[in-house]
Parts: sequence; C-alpha cells; structure tokens
Amino acid sequence: MMLSQIGLEGQLKLKRAKVLVVGAGGLGCPVLLYLAAAGVGEITILDHDTVELSNLHRQVLHTEGRIGMGKAESARTALQQLNSDIVVHAHRLPFTPSLFHPPLSTSSTPASVMSGSFTLILDCTDNPATRHFLNAYAVAHDVPLVSGGAVRAEGTVGAYGLHLASPSTGGEPVPPQRGPCYACIFPPSPPAPGPPSYASPPVSEAERLEREREEDAYYERLSLAGTGACADEGVVGVLCGVVGIGMVGEAMKVLLGTATPSLHLFSPLSASPYRSIKTRSRKVSCTTCGTTPAPSSATALSTPASRWAAFLADPSGTWPGWQDPLCESPGVGQRGSSRMDARIKVNELREAVREGKARIVDTRPAAEFGIASIEGSVNIPFSRLLKDPSLALAPSPTDPPLPSPPDASKRITFLCRRGNDSLLASRALRRYLAERGSDGETIEVDDVIGGLTAWAREEEGFPVY
Ligand SMILES: [Zn+2]
Repeated sequence: MMLSQIGLEGQLKLKRAKVLVVGAGGLGCPVLLYLAAAGVGEITILDHDTVELSNLHRQVLHTEGRIGMGKAESARTALQQLNSDIVVHAHRLPFTPSLFHPPLSTSSTPASVMSGSFTLILDCTDNPATRHFLNAYAVAHDVPLVSGGAVRAEGTVGAYGLHLASPSTGGEPVPPQRGPCYACIFPPSPPAPGPPSYASPPVSEAERLEREREEDAYYERLSLAGTGACADEGVVGVLCGVVGIGMVGEAMKVLLGTATPSLHLFSPLSASPYRSIKTRSRKVSCTTCGTTPAPSSATALSTPASRWAAFLADPSGTWPGWQDPLCESPGVGQRGSSRMDARIKVNELREAVREGKARIVDTRPAAEFGIASIEGSVNIPFSRLLKDPSLALAPSPTDPPLPSPPDASKRITFLCRRGNDSLLASRALRRYLAERGSDGETIEVDDVIGGLTAWAREEEGFPVY
C-alpha cells in the first residue's frame, strides 16, 4: 500500500475487485496466493479436479492433509488462512459449455458465473479448448482476461480485451476501445482430422490389413507428434511459479487501470529469461471478438454478446469448435474394432514379472524410464521401435545386457505410460513377425492395458508422475 504505484486509491480498487480464477492447479496456485496477498477483495475459484499427491511439488497451495479434497476448496482453505479479510468462493466445476445449460446451470453454477459479473478473469487452465471458450465468455461479457500458459520450459502471459482509453474526437461519442482478445493473437486451430473411416467393409484380407495399417499409422503420427493419448507435456515446476506471478503482475495492472496490450514470454532456464512484445490491435475478422453480418439476416449483425446469447438459448448447448478436454479423445484401443489384440491386465503383468515369463519392453522416452521403471524391464522408446520393431527381439549392442529369463524371448510384453503406445508397438511387432515369416518358433506379443498408470494404482510405492 505504501508503493506509489498503488497507493490508497489503488488498494481500494483491488479490494473492490471481483476476480474469477479458472483452474487451481500449477498456475492457479501461485496466482491465487498472490492475488489474496495483494488484497483482491473477492475471488471466485472454479476447478473440477481433486488434490493428488503427485500435484504437490508444483501446486503449492495444496497439502498432504487435503489429498482427495476438491482443488477449489483446498485453495479456498489456504487463502482464508492467509487473508481472512477477503471473500473466497470455491466451486468444484469445470469451465465447459455444460456449465451454462441445464442441469448444471440450474443446480450448481453460481449466479456470478452465469451473469459474468466480474472485474477480471484469470485463465489458469491447461488446454486450448477451455482457453478459447473462456476467452469468448470474457469477450461477450466485456471483462478483461489475463491468460497464462506453461509448457515444458516456456511460458506466456498476456492481457486481453483490455478497456483502452478512447481517442479524443472533440465531443463526438466514440465506441469503447478494446485491446485484442486471446483469439486475435492465437487463432483457434481447425479441428484435427479423425482416424480414417471407410464406407464399406473390406473386400479382401489384403484390404483389411491395409486398413489396419492406415489406422495404426494415424495413431502413430499422433503419438510421435506428442498429441496422442500417451502424451504428457511436462512442465518445469519453477515455470508455473514464474508464469503465475507474471499473471498476477498483469492482473494488478488491469485492476489499477495501467495495463497495455502486450505479451510476456518467460523461459527461466534460458540466458535471457524474460521478453515482452507489444501486441497487435484487435483483429476485425476475429471469429471471437469481431462483428460480422449475422448468417440468418441481411441486416442484423452478429456480435460477441449476440453469439453468446444464441449459445445460451440453444437447447443443444454446443459451442463451435468445442472439444471436451475432460473426456480423452478415443485412444487407439478404444475404438470398436475386430482386431485381434492380445492385451493383458496389470495382474497378469505382475505374474509375468514375478515368474520371468516375458521380456518386458517399456516404450516410454528414456527420461521417463529413468524416473521409474519396473524391475527387469528394458527401455526401447516408441519412436525407435516404430522404425525397427525387431529391436524388441534383440536390443541393440549399445543397450545394457538384458536380464533375460529362459522363456523371455518367446513372449514380449509392451508397456507404456497409459497403454496406447504399447498397443501400437505390439501391432508393429506382430506385423513385422508376420512379414518376416515363421522360422519354427512362435513369439507371443502382448501389451498392458492402462500401462504404468494402472500399475501405479495397484503397486504400493510405485510413483505416479
Ligand atoms: Zn479477437
């Protein structure tokens, strides 16, 4: 309060502010901590998730004692301990289109969220679909948005939809000026094409095999591009703190009325860790904040507010381009398929490990294998296996010698983090074996449903990461 940039007037602005924070995870924790410490008067937290042990190293508001509690409620508890003068509302809800339609909106969605009556919104989520939907919500309600992102070792913070000072026109009324929205700077990408589909069943065995190969190739590309169901973009723990605190800095400027449209880039591990760029002005053609002729009428205009009203009135409750991040896109094993996949469950894997009945090939990247692995398993990363499936039969001379039980070369069990890459690897090896032809010996190939995630759920002490 003693700082000249804030002063008593500034402190009162912060106290009067009503802020919505979506996400109480890696970014939400530092954001909430410093918003509360700064004396922001009323904070509404939305998060659908619960606190897990594996969150604690970077989600600094949660504690071991609150494992299993909703993250929103856990964060609220922490903030009230820090500052009992502020009002904190916690809601265990996802920010999705369903929030605005029955039955959610009639039962649990807070009135403030329905009406959008906030001074500022902070986006601490971690997926593009929610980011764009939240941006559209902010634009429709004319509330500024501070959005932060952290992937691997790179972070960004931006302030969008800022209320800018109108240029002086000598008394002529001018429309309110707004800074660019999130979609002006990061246009939503078109939806990714789905796996190949065919109108009619295959007419021959060769065509059936060809189609299976095409389907596998589709999922292999997804996985190698890092967008498959086994993908997990790691985040450097400290980056969440840096980005979160950067977001609070922007939030303070928005609330004090001194923010300008800009984008801040953080890479704490590089030689020049902080950069800022001035962002472009609002994009007339932006699909989120732009005003366009309404499709149904020659004269009416489609505006952000009218598009939002149409969404609320639409009984189907869908939002264009929305893909539910909570329901994983169907992985390779989840499609209805007549494929002969030999898949085993975790208890069968345990038996195989105990009795040395299989060579266990872990297809995760080497760094993840280094964190935790099943004793006796060998690491051949997925990308290498796809290039040369025979590696699973005879790992290269540079790999450490395998603890190979006598029967292990007759059965190969693939294992990955969640059970998608392992399934693709097992198919690739089976295809390789079929093409090579049998030389008298039969090799069984299978993989583990649910991968190490399922293993960790049942195996005491195996880390979930
Ligand atoms: Zn825009």
